[in-house]
Amino acid sequence: MAISTDQIIMELKQQQTLSNTSAALKEIEQHAVQQQRLVSVLQTTINLDELLSLFSKEINEVVSHSGLSFQYDDLNIDLQHGKRSHHSCEYNLSIENTLLGKVTITRRKRFIENELETIERFLGALLYPLKNALLYLQAIQLAHTDPLTGVLNRSTLHTVFKKEVALTQRQHNDLTLLMLDIDFFKKINDTHGHAAGDKALVALTKSIEDTARESDHIFRLGGEEFAILLNSTDLKGANLLAERLRKAVQKISIDHQQQAFGLTVSIGLSHYQENDTLDTLMQRADGALYQAKESGRNKVISA
Ligand code: GH3
Ligand code: MG
Ligand code: MG
Repeated sequence: MAISTDQIIMELKQQQTLSNTSAALKEIEQHAVQQQRLVSVLQTTINLDELLSLFSKEINEVVSHSGLSFQYDDLNIDLQHGKRSHHSCEYNLSIENTLLGKVTITRRKRFIENELETIERFLGALLYPLKNALLYLQAIQLAHTDPLTGVLNRSTLHTVFKKEVALTQRQHNDLTLLMLDIDFFKKINDTHGHAAGDKALVALTKSIEDTARESDHIFRLGGEEFAILLNSTDLKGANLLAERLRKAVQKISIDHQQQAFGLTVSIGLSHYQENDTLDTLMQRADGALYQAKESGRNKVISA
């Protein structure tokens, strides 16, 4: 029986379709396996840094890249894994209208369509673990910060001090503690009200943040008392910063219920000596602060 050319073409087409379908099925299967593996790997940690490192490693198996960075402004997060490079693809992640930050993947070579699809598929598996890691980080940050001013709280001073002492000793460096107390704060509260006092605390914090370096650690010890741990800073340098801060605070004007008022601060400084504990270092700074108060306030005194 003769077979027509049309019949042959039709059979070939059917075979092609079958083989295409089986290739597509294979691909779907492969994706599902990849996805399952990725999900179980990403579930092993709640630590954001570790999570991103694992994610970058997993993606690298299928789409090689040189670096992955992550930014989340609300929590001041800017992380980088590997090296930044020329070409990049950038994704703003979100779940149900909640922003989860921005992931950027970079490398020297341009990304092709197929690779971008893979990355997007992988990012899908990152969303929930990322959301959990951010919630965890936020909870930790909240436990360490003062709700009114947003700076670190007293209980965190101990931990930070320990870390800074270890660094200071390893690098044979300087460490200075600055203690600051608002002058006649009770009078501000009595004259303008508690809400005005709170405004003053927030304005003072801003002034401290503007004056201090990025690497300095700012604490609200309680009430109207603050401490700043200045790493790589000797007494002379700390004195310069303290004077700059004292003058900056003098310029603050707080508007409250159609009235404006100002404030001043007294500052005590102490320089870390070997074998100092946080208590001994604080005692010296506190003694200097007391002297600043006794000798007229709005002053800086070094122990
Ligand atoms: P000095 O110059 O000697 O430091 O005098 P002072 O009035 O600043 O010091 P004092 O310790 O007598 O008063 C501190 C005041 O700080 C008393 C308290 O009402 C107020 N205060 C403490 N915590 C807060 C706060 O969170 N908000 C406000 N508005 N006031 C606070
Ligand atoms: Mg005071
Ligand atoms: Mg006080």
